[in-house]
Amino acid sequence: MSLALTLTLLARARQAEFAEEDQIIYAHVLRDLDLGLIGAACEELAREPREAFASTMPTVGDIRARCERIEYARAQEPLATFACPKCQDEPNGWIQWECPQTHCGRARPHAPHPFTARCPCWLRRNGAMIRLRDQKNREKGRPQTQDAIALGELESGAYPYIPQVGQSPT
Ligand SMILES: [Zn+2]
Ligand SMILES: [Zn+2]
Repeated sequence: MSLALTLTLLARARQAEFAEEDQIIYAHVLRDLDLGLIGAACEELAREPREAFASTMPTVGDIRARCERIEYARAQEPLATFACPKCQDEPNGWIQWECPQTHCGRARPHAPHPFTARCPCWLRRNGAMIRLRDQKNREKGRPQTQDAIALGELESGAYPYIPQVGQSPT
């Protein structure tokens, strides 16, 4: 949802007038905040009863303060809700890295770039499927898949991202 729509819905919920000039000001003052966070803050504010003498439309200050409160509350939540804190249960096991902070393994000098690698948990969980695909590939004379290479490296202890994965990526 766009910021304009989020704010318009909040105004509707609070039966507030929300002129176009105000929309521009709100959008400008909130521009540095995460859109998802603003959405969560507006949803909370929309559901709350309005206090006596409070303005119908929450001020930008109200919205900012609510965003900060939600962000703080989220930061307090334990990470233990994930079965795998490394990939945070990403369905396909992808973990994103930034090269050169985490080296991608390419030997030649090159510009910084993001890249992804499979989490060991995903490789282990899908070992049978990876081997089956790899076998079919080989029957057709195709090269080994990246997943098969990664699985082999994981099993031999040579998977290059293990040290970084061990440090729980952010
Ligand atoms: Zn994982
Ligand atoms: Zn690289």
